[in-house]
Amino acid sequence: MKGVKPQTVLVVEDEASIASFVAAYLKSAGYEVRTAASGSEALRLVESEKPALVVLDLMLPDIDGVEVCKRIRQTGELPVLMLTARDEDVDKIIGLEVGADDYMTKPFNPRELVARVRAILRRAAPGRGERESAVIRHGDLVVDAGRREARVRGEEVQLAPKEFDLLWELLDHRGLVLTRDQLLERVWGYTFAGDTRTVDVHVRQLRRKLGDASPIVTVWGVGYKVGPAKDQAA
Ligand code: CA
Repeated sequence: MKGVKPQTVLVVEDEASIASFVAAYLKSAGYEVRTAASGSEALRLVESEKPALVVLDLMLPDIDGVEVCKRIRQTGELPVLMLTARDEDVDKIIGLEVGADDYMTKPFNPRELVARVRAILRRAAPGRGERESAVIRHGDLVVDAGRREARVRGEEVQLAPKEFDLLWELLDHRGLVLTRDQLLERVWGYTFAGDTRTVDVHVRQLRRKLGDASPIVTVWGVGYKVGPAKDQAA
């Protein structure tokens, strides 16, 4: 990677020991690292440093991680990896209102954090909007990859970035069962068998948002697939 400017990762965490430990691992993986110990400082550095990705702790002393992530989302597609102390925060974090790309529950393995950062950045380039134009119809559901829009009976359903990518991946392989590991690799870019709970969390959110138009079928012990649409079943 000689001559290539390293990408900047912003680490937002008020616990200095965790922040410096995460920063050290990211630096040794070749990233420029900036750190912020509060939400307001994070938002300032997002503006001034234009990082490629933000590692964002949920619990911060001033503006919490949820609010920081929402504000980042309002300004564009900057990827966010959330850190959380508890599993039960996860639905909220991944959901539309917050829209993080991925999450890790503390305590986490720093090597896995670096692997996820790398995977998210690889997926983010050259730009999420540049997927070829394609539209898939499935019963009442219409998904437009070019516009990154999902509609149910004509009404747009707001999906977080990874929710959209996961839905697309499943629709694009209609009838095939995809394992959680395959989905992690294709949607999140992990090239190792990681923690697959993030797949289940995203599927749960998609089902909640799409309601009876959700095409996703659980294949117990294996993974997920998209079944035939109701009006195509016969
Ligand atoms: Ca914290």
